[in-house]
Amino acid sequence: MRILLIGPPGAGKGTQAVRLAAYLSIQHISTGDLFREHIDRGTDLGQNAHTHIHAGLLVPDEVTIGVIKERLARPDTERGFLLDGFPRNLAQAQALDGILADSESRLDAVLDLEIPEVQVVRRIAGRRLCRQHREHIFHVDYSAPEVAGVCDFCGGELYQREDDREATVRKRLEVYRTETAPVVDHYQALVTTISAHGQVQEVLDRALDAIGQGQADAAGTSS
Ligand code: AMP
Repeated sequence: MRILLIGPPGAGKGTQAVRLAAYLSIQHISTGDLFREHIDRGTDLGQNAHTHIHAGLLVPDEVTIGVIKERLARPDTERGFLLDGFPRNLAQAQALDGILADSESRLDAVLDLEIPEVQVVRRIAGRRLCRQHREHIFHVDYSAPEVAGVCDFCGGELYQREDDREATVRKRLEVYRTETAPVVDHYQALVTTISAHGQVQEVLDRALDAIGQGQADAAGTSS
């Protein structure tokens, strides 16, 4: 199965993407995570990406499309993938269409996570990530770890993403409205809009319903 997960910052894309991909046994591919890995490794690409991420802007298309092209060429994507955070504008959507056409494959579904903007800043301000495993995501209010500042899964230290500060979040929202929202129209025929409101499991159940996979049981969704 090949799925796109679209939604504004703070909609819980990363949280849902990890669970959906695990449930469906497909690769979770997050361009944000790929960039953060480059930043941690101190590569030239990472330094370039960091400048844009820090400002709440999109990383240039030629860089982003190159990263995704390389990732989708790996054999582990043959069973399917869930793209989290790509495409983020029309040029990237067209590039993805070309990559898929070249491999004679196509998308099965596009999930559009919806959240009122007023909730975004609060949700993002409380987000905490694990330093050991970025896919271990918590929220101080909605999904708190048992011990503050410590990952429930691996004991890693939890931290706040640098671009989760309020001024950057507002810029990211503006970029989402102008650049990413049109991607939803581009994929109109494949799109299901899902409310991001509520508990993590409720949103996951909505997403699975939307792709015809029924209700997830708790055992199948732990990350
Ligand atoms: P995310 O983890 O998806 O919120 O991404 C974090 C940041 O990485 C974004 O705010 C952008 O600066 C950058 N980024 C992630 N995905 C893309 C993309 N598809 N195109 C351009 N920039 C991206």
